Amino acid sequence: MLRNLNDLNGKKFSINLLPDENGLIGRQCPIETCESYFKIKPGTGIMGEEYLMRCPYCGVRSENNELATPEQIEYAKSLVMQEVQKALRQDLKEWGRSIERSTRRSFIRIKTHFKSSLIPVEHYDERDLETIVICKTCALEYSIFGKFSFCPCCGDANVLQILRANLELVQKLISLALREENVDIKESLLLNSLEDVVSSFDSFGRNTVRLFVRNTPLEGSEVSFQSISKAREKIRKEFGFDFCNGLVEENWREIIACFGKRHLIAHNDGTIDQKYIDTTQDFRAEVGRQISVSSGEITKLTIAIERIGRQLQSGLSNWKDQFNKGTDEDGKQE
Ligand SMILES: [Zn+2]
Ligand SMILES: [Zn+2]
Repeated sequence: MLRNLNDLNGKKFSINLLPDENGLIGRQCPIETCESYFKIKPGTGIMGEEYLMRCPYCGVRSENNELATPEQIEYAKSLVMQEVQKALRQDLKEWGRSIERSTRRSFIRIKTHFKSSLIPVEHYDERDLETIVICKTCALEYSIFGKFSFCPCCGDANVLQILRANLELVQKLISLALREENVDIKESLLLNSLEDVVSSFDSFGRNTVRLFVRNTPLEGSEVSFQSISKAREKIRKEFGFDFCNGLVEENWREIIACFGKRHLIAHNDGTIDQKYIDTTQDFRAEVGRQISVSSGEITKLTIAIERIGRQLQSGLSNWKDQFNKGTDEDGKQE
């Protein structure tokens, strides 16, 4: 008698999730220590249905069907329950009709009347997020809280993309400085562009470390990159690689000098002190004189910083892969 209901047995439902006003669909990382929310735009990026998707915040990959949000699960459940209810209602109606037929000529005639309202669908709205990102590598469109993330599709961290965009801006500032005739404005543009390289690198470095240590025992580790030599030492000690690998000594000294100059500009009004001479080994500099910086120096620095940034990101990426491999193997042994 439960023909309609039995038809649903084992049936697979495919449910279309409701996108937000930009066409993005909410996802939630299933890892207990993360459970962070993000959105992706279906049809962008390079992944197919079976592709493992990476959490943009902790970097762990999960199956697409593990990424449903609690609201989406409630929505799907309510749709399935409606189907069950419709089938059950149909079965009851048919049963009622067969009773009516069988009692039509009997002393007691039974009339059935079936009334029920459908379970409501649990509609939901996707949550608002802060940044929409279009991955430069795979063109996936996704949105996140904050600014720095892994691409859920190809896994590329966007921190390096942000650093590169900032370094391109610095190059534009340098071009402006070179065209400027007023000496003071020219000098100020150059000093600003040096300041920008160092602060972009510091932001890049700190956020790259934060991103890669998420969900690892080093979560919460902070590395400042305002002093590049201290950062180099700390990364070597904690993560076991050198982000200046392959850099010639002379180039390293030039980088140290640029960071030293930027320190003087930010903290000593650009006046040379003994500490600057000691740390940079710039013996042509004289204590008490004003520091000067050339466009060539800054351009060279941006090239070096791009390379260091790339090595920092790939070093941390390898470190994280090793860590994930270790936890996977631990899991298998259990
Ligand atoms: Zn996560
Ligand atoms: Zn991507």
